[in-house]
Amino acid sequence: MTAEKACRNCRKIVAEAEKCPSCDNNQFTTFWRGYVLILDPEKSEIAKKMGIQQTGKHALLLSR
Ligand SMILES: [Zn+2]
Repeated sequence: MTAEKACRNCRKIVAEAEKCPSCDNNQFTTFWRGYVLILDPEKSEIAKKMGIQQTGKHALLLSR
């Protein structure tokens, strides 16, 4: 079983990583809910709203 975790800085969801591949942050939380899959951050309204500049899965809500 793999516990996916979300980067506290940019909300990127990663399965197994010591550091976030997007922003190099090493603070993760496994307490997140919902996610958006960003395919094209340039054209995605939700990516703009959330301030996401990377493709991939990003958590909608982080709790602590
Ligand atoms: Zn990150």
